[in-house]
Amino acid sequence: MKVAPRFGPGHRILVTGGAGFVPSHLVEVLLDRGCTVVAVDNFVTGSKENVAHLVERPTFTLVEADVSEGLPTHHPALAERFDAILHMASPASPTDFALLPIEILRVGSVATLHLLDRAVADGARFLLASTSEAYGDPKEHPQQETYWGNVNPIGVRSVYDEAKRFAEAATMGYHRFHGLDVAIVRIFNTYGPRMRPDDGRAIPTFIAQALRNEPITVHGTGAQTRSICYVDDLVRGILLLLDSTETGPVNCGTEHEMTMRQLAELIVSLSGSSSEVAYVTRAADDPEKRRPDLTLARELLGYEPRITPEDGLRRTIDHFRQRMG
Ligand code: NAD
Ligand code: UDP
Repeated sequence: MKVAPRFGPGHRILVTGGAGFVPSHLVEVLLDRGCTVVAVDNFVTGSKENVAHLVERPTFTLVEADVSEGLPTHHPALAERFDAILHMASPASPTDFALLPIEILRVGSVATLHLLDRAVADGARFLLASTSEAYGDPKEHPQQETYWGNVNPIGVRSVYDEAKRFAEAATMGYHRFHGLDVAIVRIFNTYGPRMRPDDGRAIPTFIAQALRNEPITVHGTGAQTRSICYVDDLVRGILLLLDSTETGPVNCGTEHEMTMRQLAELIVSLSGSSSEVAYVTRAADDPEKRRPDLTLARELLGYEPRITPEDGLRRTIDHFRQRMG
């Protein structure tokens, strides 16, 4: 299946969380395509630096606002109709689940409803950044989109998992009731330049530790797995979904599944570090294994990840090396 670009010059796209890691890469590709892009961000986990190289472009506007309060009415860039709304805003690191629980609940729920209302008013395509966390600690492996998941509704991860599950339900509710054109992407562990070294997720943490020759803090025995995706592959997948007329949910990521111990060793070796692995306490409800079934993405969108873990990690290590001096 080949998907033709649906959004390009003349189209106005709203990206919430546009100054974040993944969304800033999306913004850049949309601008390169000729779209007019408005990014709304409150910088709770993102930063202006991520889009500093884009602010001079006449087709780009960055608005500082909390989308859980609704879109600001006074800003001229937000007054005109949007052709597509990409709801990417949300803290996403498990560290944030304890630090920003209410913000996460609000941006997944209240903000999603505000943005869905706006999409109905504008007749826009609405794309939701959902997550592999919708599957919780999965009993099915690899995870297909038909799997309903295994989420602890009151556990330490639930503020994020259930907020995203609510956001999916809201998106489908608006699709069914209002006939809204929607798309849901379930994103699997993605990494790359512009992640924060102190963001708490495994890859930026391991790279920062390796570059400082500090112990690599592997949680538990490190036998738990993740399938890691370089940001360029994810962005291509999200744009294929945006350009299609598919509703989803569609998984996006790679099948490069590895244990966290293997990931730590790979990062140490690629960065030429002298770090040792240190085994530390593992958080509750941490998923045991995770790998997307990519059949739908391949069949509906023609999606194929291209970047190997070695290539992607090398690029990310180079970026961190420059940033950390
Ligand atoms: P990120 O924290 O770098 O980006 C999120 C952005 O949203 C940040 O710039 C943050 O400041 C902004 N934001 C948060 N709450 C906001 C609010 N109320 N109003 C305005 N802006 C707000 O994280 P990321 O990894 O780039 O994730 C982007 C999206 O993709 C998130 O929705 C996340 O849940 C989803 N996702 C990411 C991954 C991944 O592996 N990176 C996996 C699954 C899902
Ligand atoms: N992890 C780890 N050390 C760290 C951070 C994370 O071993 O310093 C583990 C974590 O317990 C999980 C995996 O790495 O099993 C992936 O965690 P991450 O926070 O990157 O993403 P998640 O998939 O849990 O959202």
